[in-house]
Amino acid sequence: MKTDVVVVGAGPGGMAAAWAAAKSGAETLLIERYGFCGGMATTGIVGGILGHYLNEKEPAVAGFLKVLVEKMAEFGGCEKWENAYKNYGISFDSEILKYAAERLLLEAGVNFLYHSYFHDANVNSGYIDSIEVVNKSGKMTIEGKFFIDATGDADVAYFAGFECTKGRPQDGKTESMGCIFKIAGIEEDKLTEDVVKRAKEKLAELRNTGELKIYNESLGGKGSTTRKGERSFNMTRFPGDATDAIELTQAEINLREETFKIYTFLKENVTGFENSYISSFHINAGVRETRQIKGLYTLCEKEIIEGRKTDDSIARGTYWIDIHCPFGRTVNTHLCCKECQTTEYCIMLGKYKDYLPSKNKLYPPKNDWFSIPARCLIPEKARNLLVAGRCISADHRAMGATRVMATCMAIGDAAGVMAAICLKEKCDTHSLPIKDVQQNIRKIGGFF
Ligand SMILES: Cc1cc2nc3c(=O)[nH]c(=O)nc-3n(C[C@H](O)[C@H](O)[C@H](O)COP(=O)(O)OP(=O)(O)OC[C@H]3O[C@@H](n4cnc5c(N)ncnc54)[C@H](O)[C@@H]3O)c2cc1C
Repeated sequence: MKTDVVVVGAGPGGMAAAWAAAKSGAETLLIERYGFCGGMATTGIVGGILGHYLNEKEPAVAGFLKVLVEKMAEFGGCEKWENAYKNYGISFDSEILKYAAERLLLEAGVNFLYHSYFHDANVNSGYIDSIEVVNKSGKMTIEGKFFIDATGDADVAYFAGFECTKGRPQDGKTESMGCIFKIAGIEEDKLTEDVVKRAKEKLAELRNTGELKIYNESLGGKGSTTRKGERSFNMTRFPGDATDAIELTQAEINLREETFKIYTFLKENVTGFENSYISSFHINAGVRETRQIKGLYTLCEKEIIEGRKTDDSIARGTYWIDIHCPFGRTVNTHLCCKECQTTEYCIMLGKYKDYLPSKNKLYPPKNDWFSIPARCLIPEKARNLLVAGRCISADHRAMGATRVMATCMAIGDAAGVMAAICLKEKCDTHSLPIKDVQQNIRKIGGFF
């Protein structure tokens, strides 16, 4: 197989990258290990979509996000864009997202290769000539002029031999995994203020005794569902390295077990949940952080807090530094910041305590945004590879702010445009004409 632009991974970053590359005139192939699009939005049933929100009047992200929302709205799986973007998080139906994203990408002219797992790359002097995937046909070699790594885990960059980092610099630990699950059959009208209050008190008690391993006492919300009587829940944590197959397997088993315990508690103890049932387990454990590429530039924490703008800005981030305890702890710990109350060992609360900011120092300035520089998408030693999504070049704390889905989509839009411009200008990724890139991002409705 041979094409212009090969995008690996059909999550928020990859969907947007493939759409933008095709829209910008490149013959584009999107490769995905599952049989549908969405990445964490569908395999992890993660939602709502965060990171687009600047204020009620003005979104910070549009591009692919906007057309996806409009398409989901057309199929009854989301509010219309003009209302949706005014919410801090955009709720959607994750089943409809699968269909809507596919229709959009097909309309843009993207070709698909599903059920295909990337595992290796053939590299020559900084250029990837082709990549190798395995699927039911056996091993397949795919040639391309430009490649976009949207695997979330920087699989392409890593297996091609380009430098990556993983986790926080002090001990290499990554944010904990987690999982979202959905419960349907909830009788919403029975969830009175009093019922909710008592349920939350009991959940807090079970958390503090360790009987339930939950990091909040929420009774779920819309998030990745818009259906009546259905809620999605984001309460679990599990530590580990999701690029280690054994640790990932342990996470899958443990997170499903915890999910079932939470569900059983709700069904047996909370009015309104008597006839409820689990409508979805995650398909893939929720992975927050693994590898980041070492790019021409590394986005850092300070830039988020200051809302720093750069000349080579290709996307806007608005989210805050949201780091889930790398030990997966749920008692006396919420965010990774100075105020963490854990009494258990953590390197960050010992000699690195000064490195941790206070919880009120995790946010970009209000009503403002920070730049994602184009250089963060360009691996230092690669000449025809770009990355999209959460695996851009960012330090552990900055990626805690850039990993949300709207930001990943905005980065994807840019990566797709960047690949198409390289193709048109016959240049490599290190000599991209940035003004052209920015102009073309604007053409597909993006902001930077
Ligand atoms: C528990 C949890 C809760 C979260 N909550 C929110 C939230 O409320 N709102 C929000 O906006 N964000 C949230 N996030 C963050 C967000 O979901 C992810 O950071 C985001 O989806 C990353 O997008 P991505 O495209 O980089 O990667 P992913 O979404 O992980 O997509 C990567 C895609 O690549 C495919 N892939 C991976 N490796 C290969 C391979 N070797 N070969 C072929 N295909 C491959 C995967 O199957 C997947 O489809 C949450 C994350 C977690 C884990």
